[in-house]
Amino acid sequence: MDCVFCKIVEKEIPSEIIYEDERVIAFEDLNPEAPTHFLVIPKKHISSTWELEKEDSELIGHIIYIGSKIAREKGLEEGYRIVNNCGEQGGQTVDHIHFHILGGRNLQWPPG
Ligand code: AMP
Ligand code: ZN
Repeated sequence: MDCVFCKIVEKEIPSEIIYEDERVIAFEDLNPEAPTHFLVIPKKHISSTWELEKEDSELIGHIIYIGSKIAREKGLEEGYRIVNNCGEQGGQTVDHIHFHILGGRNLQWPPG
């Protein structure tokens, strides 16, 4: 499958991996939008939150937990944001589900 994040999972293309276990991988975003900006993704290819099945619930919970654990390790005690973009209007550009963790600056709300 021609999926850039599957290729990161398979180590076919380089990335700055922060964390990895049997189900998920976390790596630095190539174009950071904040001083801290990394992504947590499942190793299993799921296109977006639109395609989630009930059986994926625990996996997504694990992703949020790992993202938060890394945020703590990176010293984001002043706050951070976990973002999932879904679909074209949601601003999704890579069709492999991923959760952004952004922090290290004041983040605006609402997003654009
Ligand atoms: P989204 O717009 O929510 O689909 O986010 C996709 C994110 O993936 C963007 O923040 C990109 O900078 C990031 N990205 C795309 N390709 C790579 C890559 N090869 N390594 C790391 N991050 C990437
Ligand atoms: Zn994929």
